[in-house]
Amino acid sequence: MTREIVLAARPQGVPKESDFAVRDVDDAEPAEGQVLVRNVFVSVDPYMRGRMSGIRTYVDPYDVGSPIDGGAVGRVVESRHAGFAAGDWVLSRLGWREHGVAEGDHVRKLDPAAAPPSTALGVLGMPGLTAWVGLVDIGRVEAGETIYVSGAAGAVGSIAAQIAKQKGLRVIGSAGTDEKVEWLTSLGVEAFDYRSTRVRDALKDGIDVCFDNVGGEQLEAAISALRPFGRVVACGAIARYNDERAEPGPRNMSLVVTNRLRIEGFIVVDHMQRFPTFIAEVGPWVRDGTVQYRETIVEGLERVPAAFAGLFEGANIGKMLVRVGPDD
Ligand code: NDP
Repeated sequence: MTREIVLAARPQGVPKESDFAVRDVDDAEPAEGQVLVRNVFVSVDPYMRGRMSGIRTYVDPYDVGSPIDGGAVGRVVESRHAGFAAGDWVLSRLGWREHGVAEGDHVRKLDPAAAPPSTALGVLGMPGLTAWVGLVDIGRVEAGETIYVSGAAGAVGSIAAQIAKQKGLRVIGSAGTDEKVEWLTSLGVEAFDYRSTRVRDALKDGIDVCFDNVGGEQLEAAISALRPFGRVVACGAIARYNDERAEPGPRNMSLVVTNRLRIEGFIVVDHMQRFPTFIAEVGPWVRDGTVQYRETIVEGLERVPAAFAGLFEGANIGKMLVRVGPDD
């Protein structure tokens, strides 16, 4: 027997623990070409909220009563694929479960000597690539510019802020607690708590680029602060994900015309071909400590729903992960 988390009900507003259930399931047997994996870390990510709503966007919704797939890192228990052996660390899409069977061609082997395996879900994985693609390909940032990163202490934001520093930008960042602001300040970010400081005051000197993770009021303030020909890297809008009805957008969109602004959204899965270039540039910075990363690790499969809900309350510094099993 093993356990998995299923969607019990579509969340209304902020996700609640009762929207999820832990289910016992029989152990699965890998067929030819498959691997049986024991998860060690499972990822909770803001995009999952959209999939719980039942509306198809760029990815299929989760079905009520079905398990939640998503990023996970674990160890191969049994392999029927020539590329893997028992004990290998792998990155999969097995999601919120203790064990699962995956196609060997759909998982990636990790080298624990090169980087801690958990980083494949964070700084050296999807969130890190999102930060880098957003800055380099979408924002096309240049040294000497000023960038505003909203949600700057999160998985994507903290890496975007540091890569921007490395590329010679002045970086202003928002976060929701003193501890987050202190960490960002130690990284050379001009950080402020958006709960006590008005974003428009923090941006009063003007900005060239906004890396937007939050949307809503923070985006509106950034649009007002952007200089002519400024850009918005529209990465996410977490302040809006639990809305029950669509709120009016920024009230100052006319500035997009008068200031010749460019607002461009992107989805990281469209940019997977950039992964090797991202790793070649950012990997060494992570290894030598130039780029720092933090993880907030919650313990136990049954606490996955609480960890997920915590994303919307700012419970994480850096990447939010849940440990569902031991390393060895
Ligand atoms: P984070 O690690 O940043 O976690 C979410 C954080 O958002 C919280 O810790 C909290 O920090 C902040 N937050 C939550 N609710 C609010 C709110 N109402 N107002 C302001 N801040 C809030 O998550 P990720 O780094 O994984 O994701 C960040 C953003 O990037 C999300 O919008 C996500 O959807 C997006 N994303 C987009 C991708 C793409 O391909 N375009 C890929 C990956 C992520 P605080 O304490 O500061 O409030």
